[in-house]
Amino acid sequence: MRVDVLGVGFDNVTMDEAVERAVSMMEEEGPHLVVTPNPEMIQQAERDPEFAEILAQADLAIPDGVGVIYAAKLLGTPLKGRVPGVDLATRLMERMAQSGKRLYLLGAKPGVAEMAAVNLSAAHPGLVVCGTHDGYFQEDDPSVVEDIRKCRADVVFVCLGAFKQERWAAVHGKETGARLFLGLGGALDVFSGQVERAPVMWQKLGIEWLYRTIKEPFRIKRVAKLPLVLVDALGHRLRRGKGGKR
Ligand code: UDP
Repeated sequence: MRVDVLGVGFDNVTMDEAVERAVSMMEEEGPHLVVTPNPEMIQQAERDPEFAEILAQADLAIPDGVGVIYAAKLLGTPLKGRVPGVDLATRLMERMAQSGKRLYLLGAKPGVAEMAAVNLSAAHPGLVVCGTHDGYFQEDDPSVVEDIRKCRADVVFVCLGAFKQERWAAVHGKETGARLFLGLGGALDVFSGQVERAPVMWQKLGIEWLYRTIKEPFRIKRVAKLPLVLVDALGHRLRRGKGGKR
């Protein structure tokens, strides 16, 4: 059973449990989808039933950010902890390097996925990055699906930004023949070295979002969704407290 956070279900898993679930998905016929909903995506799902359904149908939904963790706590159904998508991807690459599974990197601006491939291959000896494609293509462009199929990818990191990446994987995943898709937002920008991740101390304190906002101030509007979700969660909690059911 998933933990409901304002209409979006989350798997209550630790990082180790998430890794094992994803590894077993990699071993079975696909397609499987792992999603990493954040407060912005929760709000989008509230407005957009198609997106809500894609998230509900995903095989694993992990709480990437601290906003979801706080909201779940406020709702009285705490989650075990954060499972950042970038960290899950890193742990999975270690396993892929051992088992010979083939990874395809899809998304980000032209040239970024290639740079990420070079860095990731160096960081994980034995990892097979079988192909890359930038994220600026028409959604129904068949050449991307064909390329993934031709590369015989087992796993695809889909980094097209929230909604676009989940929708693309849900609609086209099966045609590619790959087993596992992870929607990872800006992960290729991080893996390529284009965007610096917050220092570990900031990550541990749960203020990675603050670091990112300082570095990329245009994100302020998106970060503002975090407190809104917490206010929403508090409202639900108070209404329940007054005897009403959700
Ligand atoms: N992106 C893309 N195709 C698009 C729009 C965005 O490949 O049509 C990429 C963008 O270059 C960036 C990532 O998707 O690398 C989105 O990053 P962001 O950190 O904004 O992710 P989110 O917060 O939406 O998960």
